[in-house]
Amino acid sequence: MLGNLIRDKGREGRRGYTLPRFDVENADLRKILPENALRKEQPRLAEVDEPTVIRHYTNLSRKNWGIDTNFYPLGSCTMKHNPRANEAAAATPSFSGLHPLQPEAQVQGALQVMHEMQGFLSEISGFPAVSLQPMAGAQGELTSILMVAKYFEDAGDHRRTTVLIPSTAHGTNPATAAMAGFGVQEIGIDEDGCMDVEELRENADETTAALMITNPNTLGIYEKNIEEIAHILHEVGAFLYMDGANVNAIIGRMRPAEAGIDIMHFNLHKTFSTPHGGGGPGSGAIACSEALASFRPDPVVDKDDDNYHLVRPEKSIGRLACFHGNFGVILKAWNYTKMHGPELKDVTNMAVLNANYVRTRLKCTYRVPYEGICKHECVVQPPKGVKALDVAKGLIDHGFHPPTVYFPLVVKEVMLIEPTETESKETLDDFVGAMLQLVESTPEELHEAPVNAPTRRLDEARAARQLRARW
Ligand SMILES: *Cc1c(COP(=O)(O)O)cnc(C)c1O
Repeated sequence: MLGNLIRDKGREGRRGYTLPRFDVENADLRKILPENALRKEQPRLAEVDEPTVIRHYTNLSRKNWGIDTNFYPLGSCTMKHNPRANEAAAATPSFSGLHPLQPEAQVQGALQVMHEMQGFLSEISGFPAVSLQPMAGAQGELTSILMVAKYFEDAGDHRRTTVLIPSTAHGTNPATAAMAGFGVQEIGIDEDGCMDVEELRENADETTAALMITNPNTLGIYEKNIEEIAHILHEVGAFLYMDGANVNAIIGRMRPAEAGIDIMHFNLHKTFSTPHGGGGPGSGAIACSEALASFRPDPVVDKDDDNYHLVRPEKSIGRLACFHGNFGVILKAWNYTKMHGPELKDVTNMAVLNANYVRTRLKCTYRVPYEGICKHECVVQPPKGVKALDVAKGLIDHGFHPPTVYFPLVVKEVMLIEPTETESKETLDDFVGAMLQLVESTPEELHEAPVNAPTRRLDEARAARQLRARW
């Protein structure tokens, strides 16, 4: 792209800037710098005027896709609209100008936000204790499993070497267990798409530290046996951890603590405003039972009388990140929760309604491997002979970001669609219309897609491994 700018638009000697006259004496760099540090030839830069540069980069930015430009039903990522009011709150100078090393007395307002957010998550989850420190969902998982490990270490129980994980899990779950030093044992699923309880019963024993379950799972299905699952683990002295990245499907309808879960993480990005993806800041806050509370990372916010303090839980696993977590994301989540209040339940209802609407409308043409009501996302498979990847690429030509494809791994040619609660019926109808139209094309035609995008098909493995994000 820069090559084009130089070749097509550049004219030798043209400038887009004027600098003040150089007025430093005796500053001939050719005399100061060593010979090998000096340029031998002119740098290869575009010699263009300012409007040309502005247009070049503005047009490049328009080739980008995002939730602000297009519908983005990327399953498991909750790519929903994030109210601008939350961004404004996070940008307020009285918050954004704070320094994390300022004395507590000067940052009482920020500590109050954190303390209240801990309280909101406590109320939503039913757990007495919260930590806002983890900087991402995956770090919230790691925090939780490290807390479980420390619990057993503290109890002198050295038999716990294994973490059980259902086959529908997000890849970060087994990675977390391995990073925390545990062996991973996979548990299969039954014909309803739920974790196989009998297989769990056979595998849970005194070597089990925890089960990591996602609920609703990554098929968008609520784990209907969750209470029995908790019971099986507690009987062998193990913990039940819940990956709560999908709580937008259950907030206000179900409290994880009441179902027997011991510890969970939230994705404050995704669920509580702040977009996911693109490597931006996140927050993987955790909530846990009394038994695990004293192992939380350092620090958490406490309140006595009218003052807020940062305190280190008694048997803390220590710090997982510098300072106090991603404060800007916490602030947006606080604003989001305050804005919705008890209406968060409506958010849940709408997320579930939208997913079921898409599932039901696609059912005539696409295969739906699991019948019955789904939660916030649905899985479908294209008709026989059509590849999920080809449909995904075809959607780009229709102006839609493709859904997640080939995940979860337990369904072949799968498309995982998460419409989210912020989309209108009209948008969903347009999307369904495109999905239905695409499978009318011949497989050969579909294999050509996308034809209208700035780039055609990429070697995706290479694009991910050798990312050249400069021009
Ligand atoms: C997004 C997600 C995660 C990981 O969250 P990050 O913030 O990307 O680390 C974990 N589990 C599930 C089910 C998710 O959807």
